[in-house]
Amino acid sequence: MTPAPSFWAVLPAAGVGSRMRADRPKQYLELAGRSVIEHTLTAFLEHPGTLGIVVALASDDPWWPQLPLAQDARIRCAEGGAERASSVLSALLLLTAQGVADDAWVLVHDAARPNLQRSDIDHLLASLATDDVGGLLAVPVRDTLKRAGADGRVAATLDRSLVWQAYTPQMFRLGPLSRALADALAAGVAVTDEASAMEWAGLAPRLVEGRPDNLKITRPEDLEWLRRSWQLDALADPGNPTS
Ligand code: C5P
Repeated sequence: MTPAPSFWAVLPAAGVGSRMRADRPKQYLELAGRSVIEHTLTAFLEHPGTLGIVVALASDDPWWPQLPLAQDARIRCAEGGAERASSVLSALLLLTAQGVADDAWVLVHDAARPNLQRSDIDHLLASLATDDVGGLLAVPVRDTLKRAGADGRVAATLDRSLVWQAYTPQMFRLGPLSRALADALAAGVAVTDEASAMEWAGLAPRLVEGRPDNLKITRPEDLEWLRRSWQLDALADPGNPTS
């Protein structure tokens, strides 16, 4: 069996998260005694394959310097951009500027997905270790899908058997991903994840089935759901670090 590759982690964390209607970006909201982004970073800091982490931050971010983890020597900061894709590209360019090889594996993961389990990282690494393109964690849709008409009524029922939700981490090699993102941004293509940039470059990223509970905090109820879920875990297992 091919050993799991080592990798660099890139965390885009320069978003505002306006749908949370909170006093700060969602990655800095409190969850089980720490900020969301600290939980996310810990998933990578505790993984033996992590070579280092680059966090893309807004230039005027007053919250990051206040976190104890901001002093961690394994974490570097890059200046984020106006879109998620430009934040990711900025972090990738920092890695290249620091001499990281073109063929190094990079795992890009939303700062706002704090429930990433070690088993999901291991599954992604094992599935893609010898892959020519790379790929992403994703979850097959469970519900029946409807296409809405302009009048707010169902226009059609879609075939859900071929549809997956794209999650993160997304795992690609540094050089090809940087070029795909730069080209897509220059062409004005809307890229909401790394895989779409690779697709735009004519490649077919592999879908690796991940855990549905690796959810991205988007709305207040997502944070509430995680809080409740971790409280239940803590009751069942008082030694759990998320308690
Ligand atoms: O807004 P959305 O939920 O899609 O953001 C996903 C991730 O991308 C978040 O961690 C957010 O901080 C990050 N992001 C970024 N730069 C932007 C917009 C979003 O790093 N300009």
